[in-house]
Amino acid sequence: MAAVGAFISSAGIDGGRASRKLKVLLAVSVSFFLLWLSIKVFAQSDLWPLLIVPIFTGAWFFYEIGALIAAGMAALLLAQTSFEKPGTIMLAVSTFAVLGLMLGWGQRRQKQAHRRMLRSSLTDALTGLFNYGYFMDCLGREVSRVDRYGGKVTMVMFDIDHFKLFNDRFGHEKGNDALRAVASTLRHEKRDSDIIARYGGEEFVMLLPGDEAAGEELADRMREAVAGLEIPMGRGSSTGVTVSAGVACYPIAAGSKEELLDRVDQLLYTSKRKGRNQVSVAPAKQRLAAM
Ligand code: GH3
Ligand code: MG
Ligand code: MG
Repeated sequence: MAAVGAFISSAGIDGGRASRKLKVLLAVSVSFFLLWLSIKVFAQSDLWPLLIVPIFTGAWFFYEIGALIAAGMAALLLAQTSFEKPGTIMLAVSTFAVLGLMLGWGQRRQKQAHRRMLRSSLTDALTGLFNYGYFMDCLGREVSRVDRYGGKVTMVMFDIDHFKLFNDRFGHEKGNDALRAVASTLRHEKRDSDIIARYGGEEFVMLLPGDEAAGEELADRMREAVAGLEIPMGRGSSTGVTVSAGVACYPIAAGSKEELLDRVDQLLYTSKRKGRNQVSVAPAKQRLAAM
């Protein structure tokens, strides 16, 4: 069940940061120890400017707090040695701390900008859901995972019913509000192991581990939740929208990711043809025929 969710974390937004920080902490401690050994035991007191290295490393990985802790450790280390001029120690430590703080601050801003860029390259600006490109990557990887290790992955495609009419009646801005409301309802209903994305326009797609039965159940719950939405239209009034959906499972109903996309698209249009606000799944005999 964790397969799709595990893929999200392997996309690298947060993955492995904690263990990397632990390694850096270890490296900073070891470099302090080696410097202490050089300064104190081997009386290499002219090596003290090298204390800048662990301070900068601390700032690089732990930002301002890392710089301050490392500068504090440097102060302790210098005070412990037979360093003769306390004034010089004070000057050195405060210079270290200020430089480290500046580097830490710059590093924090750079990382934040990088994270923002990464997020905006993966998500849709209007709804905040994953975008088409990210979804297609996930689909490719999930299909390869199933080919290699077995199991099943199910795809659901949702489309808002009569959305052109909604826009014509209430305007594009209210249409955008409706898209945001539908997206947040779908996101709220999905489980941690599922991926949901805006496929384009007023279409949303979801990938979940498991078979069609699981997909149908979840899709129907989502359809119901969307149908229950009250989208504010101003002056105390509200309106609603409905979605239609198609559900198909790989490798039961399709033999490739392209076929899977075609299959959910056809099933979505079956739901439209049957009157909308419903979910369609491939009939059992068609599923068997596709095997
Ligand atoms: P159906 O039930 O058959 O799906 O009918 P529909 O009207 O929803 O389908 P159609 O494909 O004719 O129209 C889709 C509409 O979705 C038209 C387009 O203006 C609207 N739309 C697509 N993207 C956006 C968007 O980002 N914002 C807004 N407000 N409307 C959008
Ligand atoms: Mg559409
Ligand atoms: Mg539509």
